Parts: sequence; structure tokens; C-alpha cells
Amino acid sequence: MGAQAADFFAYNADDRAEWLSAPHSWVTAFNIKPRQGYTFLSRFRRPMLTITEDGADGMHDMMIAACDQFRYEFFGYKGPHASCSENLVVSMRRLGHQIEVVPQPINFFTNTQIQPDGKLVSPPNPVPPGAYVELRALMDLICVVSSCPFDLAREGWTINSKTGPTELLVDVSG
Ligand SMILES: [Zn+2]
Repeated sequence: MGAQAADFFAYNADDRAEWLSAPHSWVTAFNIKPRQGYTFLSRFRRPMLTITEDGADGMHDMMIAACDQFRYEFFGYKGPHASCSENLVVSMRRLGHQIEVVPQPINFFTNTQIQPDGKLVSPPNPVPPGAYVELRALMDLICVVSSCPFDLAREGWTINSKTGPTELLVDVSG
């Protein structure tokens, strides 16, 4: 199906206060579209991961905050809605960690663009089925991936496939 945003978070396994920071990464790489060879830094500016293979042709985002209950309410949704922020908090709790901050994620397979006037747009997601990224950890990490449950039809803000969110496959090898 493709066109499924993957919100990615990473923490130093020995220190949950050191998390992957999108702003620290882009201000060092001078680029907000990570591709092969791109290194993600922690908020302490230490290398955490590098992209060894980008099978999605740079179709990634580092600008959009993780969705949360308030984002869905902002778009007029009534009642509780699954979110990437909740997925992160619950996943970390499962490992015994209470986190107080939801970091800016790396949103793989997410099509955002900054227009010349600075406007941030999210045109329809063109990422095909089978697209992938391969990352190498540069320190011991706890990584969390959220298959973004954003399913609202909002003109000009198409995060996922129009047919709704789908599963992502995560493969971890040593
Ligand atoms: Zn989300």
C-alpha cells in the first residue's frame, strides 16, 4: 500500500535524557531531507544513527511534531484518537521508562515541503509499497517506530494513504 508515515524516535540506551534530535541533526547536515549517508545526532550533538540505505528517495520529514490527541482535536475530531505521541509513551512504559518529553521525530516516508515563501505543505504521499530505510546504530539505542494513525481527510495535509494507515515492517539485526 505504501504512503505510510513512520514516526521514528531513538534514545541512548544508557541515558534516556539523550534522545535523537531532528533540529540538531539538520543544523549540522544543513539539510532537512535525510538520505543515504545522513547522520542523526542526539540533542547532545553526538552521532546516534546513520542512513546506510535510503529506499524511499529522500521522501522523509523532520519538521512535523508527533501527532497527539490535541492535533486531532485541532482538526475537529471528537473523542480519543490513537497518536504517535501516545504510542511512544506507552512503548517506553512497557520498557519501564516514563518519559516527560515527546521529541521531534524523524518522520520517514512522509512528504512535506517548504515552499519559497516558507509555507509548510504536505502534498499527497507518493511513497510506493516496499519503500524502506536502513539505519545503522552508532551507539546502543532504544528505538521506537510509530505507524502514524493519522486518518483525517484534510485538504492540503495528506500524511498517509487516503485508504488509511497501514502496518510497517521493522527488522532489527545485530
Ligand atoms: Zn502520527
